[in-house]
Formats: sequence, C-alpha cells, structure tokens
Amino acid sequence: MCVGDSNGEGGVENIRIKTSFLFKANLIGGITLKLLKSYGLTDRYINESSFYEGLRLARVIAQHKGSYKVITVDGEQQAQISGKLRHETTELYKFPAVGDYVMVSYEKIEDTAIIHYILSRKSVFLRTAVGIKKQAQIVASNIDIVFICMSLNSNYNLNRLERYLSIAWDSGATPVIVLTKSDLCENLTQVIREVEQVSFYADIITTSMFEDNIDKFKPYMKEGITAAFIGSSGVGKSTLINQMLGKTMLETKEVGKSDKGKHTTTGREMFPSLLGGVVIDTPGMRELGIQSADLSKSFADIERLAQDCKFNDCSHKNEPGCAIQKALSEGTIDHRRLNSYTKLKNEASYEGLNSKQIENQKIERMFKEFGGMKNARKLVKGRKN
Ligand code: GDP
Ligand code: ZN
Repeated sequence: MCVGDSNGEGGVENIRIKTSFLFKANLIGGITLKLLKSYGLTDRYINESSFYEGLRLARVIAQHKGSYKVITVDGEQQAQISGKLRHETTELYKFPAVGDYVMVSYEKIEDTAIIHYILSRKSVFLRTAVGIKKQAQIVASNIDIVFICMSLNSNYNLNRLERYLSIAWDSGATPVIVLTKSDLCENLTQVIREVEQVSFYADIITTSMFEDNIDKFKPYMKEGITAAFIGSSGVGKSTLINQMLGKTMLETKEVGKSDKGKHTTTGREMFPSLLGGVVIDTPGMRELGIQSADLSKSFADIERLAQDCKFNDCSHKNEPGCAIQKALSEGTIDHRRLNSYTKLKNEASYEGLNSKQIENQKIERMFKEFGGMKNARKLVKGRKN
C-alpha cells in the first residue's frame, strides 16, 4: 500500500490532506495498524497522534548517529529529523530516541521519512552524554517493564540490584527482577529470601537456560507492552531475549543473511516478542550508569524510617533522634543497605532533569501548541495505557 502516494501533482498540501484522510481510515479499520501494534503501539499514542493532522504515526526502532529507523503502517523505513526540529532542539534529550513514538511525513515507502514531532514519553532511560557539557541523553523511551537481570553465580550483588531498581523506578517503567542461571545456584531459597529483602514493589522470577522460561514472562508480556532487559554483560540477557523472540525472529527475512541469528545484525533495536509486546535491546540500555534515581520505592523501608528522624535534614550519621541509627542498632536494617542507599543518594543528586520533569515539560509545550487547556486535558485523560 502506498498511503499518500502522489502522482507529482498537487504539491505538499494535497499530500497532507490525503495522508490525513487515509491515516484516519486506517484507524477505523484497525487492520493496517497491526504492524505498529506488534511494535507496542497502544491507544494512548493513537489518541495523541490524532492531534497532528496530516502526519503519520511511527515508532523509532533504531538510531545510529543522526539517522533513524522507524516502523510505520507501511513497514520499516529510514528516517531523519526535520530541519525545524533539528533547529529547535538544543538539549540532547529532546532528540528522538529508540522507543519514541513520532509523527512523520513521507510520500513513498522508499523515501526517507521526516520526523517532525516526538509524542510525550511515558518513561525514559537516561544517560549522561560524554561531551563538553554534562547533558542528559535518552537511551530508550516508553518502556513499560524492565527486566533487571542478575545471575545467581558470581554476579549476584544486592548493591547492584538496588542501583538498577532505583534507576528503573525513576524511569517510569516497572521493574521485574530476573535471577538468571538458577542451575548454578545451590541455595536458591536463601538467595530469594535475601533478594526479597530489597525488592519491595518489584516481582522476582528465576530462570535457567535449561528450562523453558516463556511461561515466566507471560504475566508481563502482551500486546502493547514494551520491555527491556538490563544487567551486566554475561548474565544471560541475550539468551532470554532470544527465547522471547523465538521463531518470529528467526523467520524474519532480515536475519536471513546471518545464520547466527544474532539480532544485532538486523540493525534494529526493537523486536516483537512471541508473547505479544516488543523488546527493546539497545547497547546503551544494557549497562546503565546512574543518571537519576527514585529511591522512594527501591528504598521504601529507609525513606519511611527517615520520616521519623528528629531533624528533617538528618544525615543519619550521629544526629540525636535518628530513626535509622535506631533501626540499625535494633537490626531492622543493615549497614550494607544503608551504605548502598547513601551512596545512591549522593550519586543521583545530578542537577539535570529527571524523567518526570522531562515529561512535564512536554505537556507544557503541548498546552501551547494545541490550543491550551481543553485539548491538553483531553490528551492527558486519554492516557490509560
Ligand atoms: P548477556 O551478555 O547478558 O546477553 O549474556 P548471554 O545471554 O550472552 O549469556 C552469556 C553466557 O551465559 C553464555 O555462554 C550463555 O550460554 C550462558 N548462560 C545464559 N543463561 C544461562 C543459564 O541459565 N545457565 C547457565 N549455566 N548459563 C547460562
Ligand atoms: Zn536520621
């Protein structure tokens, strides 16, 4: 199909009207959106895209330097950002990233699509860009579930887990703890008990490559879900991702060139899963540094206790009336956990924007661009997914 295909007559305006009409027709039929839905598209973004007359909805599935790969109703396409967007974009985090839903224009599927707008992000994973200025950069966006992988051999480390949990909660995604290589663990029950001490709101699953792990991911993966795997190198992320992509991935033509089936050879960084939903796997996502952290969930115990400290700005060292020191002496919390908390709190005091602030900025901009309060409210209301 060639949505908005032009015979060369009529110019830009004509194409705009046509694409807008056809795009709406697509929504009603719901059929041609199937492809985008296999890449995580939800009603929230279909709704938001309707604010952009004449442009088409797409999702960024890969990024390399200044160029992008997007998925549209027509398939996979190369894309670039528009001159206007480039010109107006001063901060790195305002550039499109893998996982972003974007509004694009193109005449033919062979064309390079032009990215005009980025739709509001419901979660972002940030990293500090290397460069002259310390700037936040988006590694991946719109992730619903992040599987934090830790292997049950020498990689097992509670401090690291707490770090990943804090990053995940801050991003806006929901973390699930995946303890891999359970075949190498002799005291699984005890280890799980330890992990439960720090997991709080996050679920825990255990996997082994010698088992079929698909069922364990079923409660989390379904159409409309975007997931990512983080954790140190070698913990078994690729093994699990391959299991989740299963035949779908192997049957895909692009992989045909390489019999190894290593998905990185496709130049894509997003892959539809067998269970429904899509997996984001970008190199930057795999080993995240801490940019900002939300300790309120990952350290719910400590943050709750701290409310009982006598002084609001208690450093929990030697102030009188410190509830945390009291808990330490009573053995309710341990030194390891308090040290881990203090360390993360110091590291995360980066003065940039956290994910929630970025999102709020976006909404402010939408207020201005789309006729103010009424439309913006409609937009926010429509966001259930
Ligand atoms: P990644 O770097 O996190 O993507 O890790 P990989 O998936 O490439 O796995 C690294 C190594 O660990 C490979 O040699 C895998 O065969 C091995 N591995 C992965 N999962 C398991 C497991 O459940 N048990 C054991 N014993 N080895 C595993
Ligand atoms: Zn205190």
